[in-house]
Amino acid sequence: MASEVILLMGPPGAGKGTQAARLAEARNLKQLSTGDILRENVAGGTELGTRAKSFMDAGELVPDDLIIDMVRSELAGLDEVRVLFDGYPRNPAQAGQLDGLLAELDADLTAAVALEVDQDEIVRRLVQRAGEQGRSDDNEDTVRHRLQVYAEQTEPLLDYYAEAGTLRRVDGTGSVADVEARIRRELP
Ligand code: AMP
Repeated sequence: MASEVILLMGPPGAGKGTQAARLAEARNLKQLSTGDILRENVAGGTELGTRAKSFMDAGELVPDDLIIDMVRSELAGLDEVRVLFDGYPRNPAQAGQLDGLLAELDADLTAAVALEVDQDEIVRRLVQRAGEQGRSDDNEDTVRHRLQVYAEQTEPLLDYYAEAGTLRRVDGTGSVADVEARIRRELP
């Protein structure tokens, strides 16, 4: 099997996690959700979790060096680079590090899928998720801050991938199945 690397991007609450799981299964990709891996580390009380927790609770990005180490160790030992990244990269420095890592592994980026959902819908979804999952970073102030961090640090990456010719913008509203079908239509 050839290498395949897909990025799933979009603001918090855009439905990245839900779509990532479906897409990874359908295309036989390893799902790497940096937020999930960090939360597992926090729950398990690892050194990474201890260092990441205060940033996560504040809605800030965890430092880039911790993230690239984590991504590297997740990719180490894979026979084939078939990966779906969810919530990574989050800023231009991480995008540059990822490019370097993929070059080392002789793998190309297949597509950067950006899920687009308007701000009102996002706030509605995140408030609902806070009630259902009790994530400690889903309170109103932190949600607002995460949206700001997304706009300032992550959204500029869409231009970066547009210039590289890999960006695929997808309407993230409607049912999970509808969004999934739209994503599939955009992929080779
Ligand atoms: P997420 O589940 O993707 O919304 O991530 C939850 C939190 O984990 C974020 O608010 C950040 O604090 C942290 N996080 C997840 N992925 C990254 C990343 N690629 N770079 C830096 N911080 C991250």
